[in-house]
Amino acid sequence: MLIRGLPVNFDQDATALRCPSCDEYGGLHQEIITVYPAKGGVIEINSRNGNIRTWGSGTPQEALNPSMYRDGLTVHFSCEHCGGFEDVQQTLRMAQHKGLTLVDWEERET
Ligand SMILES: [Zn+2]
Repeated sequence: MLIRGLPVNFDQDATALRCPSCDEYGGLHQEIITVYPAKGGVIEINSRNGNIRTWGSGTPQEALNPSMYRDGLTVHFSCEHCGGFEDVQQTLRMAQHKGLTLVDWEERET
């Protein structure tokens, strides 16, 4: 299973992420970084308060790992321009699939 969400776009210098909802690039804030090791477990870092949580997991699917069999990573962002700083809104996902590194924005259900 390949992840297929929204495409990742950058600013004119191809360095700053653009928000997948409003297309602005000056107001994204990293909120929660989650690492999904392929061998199991989940590591979550909350950048607002510095808390680090870890927990075991079953299958990658149960852990919500964006990769089916390999390491995965998600970064939850808030956006100043479309909904307020306090709300976690956007999730950038990185997955491995047969040597490919796949990056997308998770599509939100509205
Ligand atoms: Zn936005």
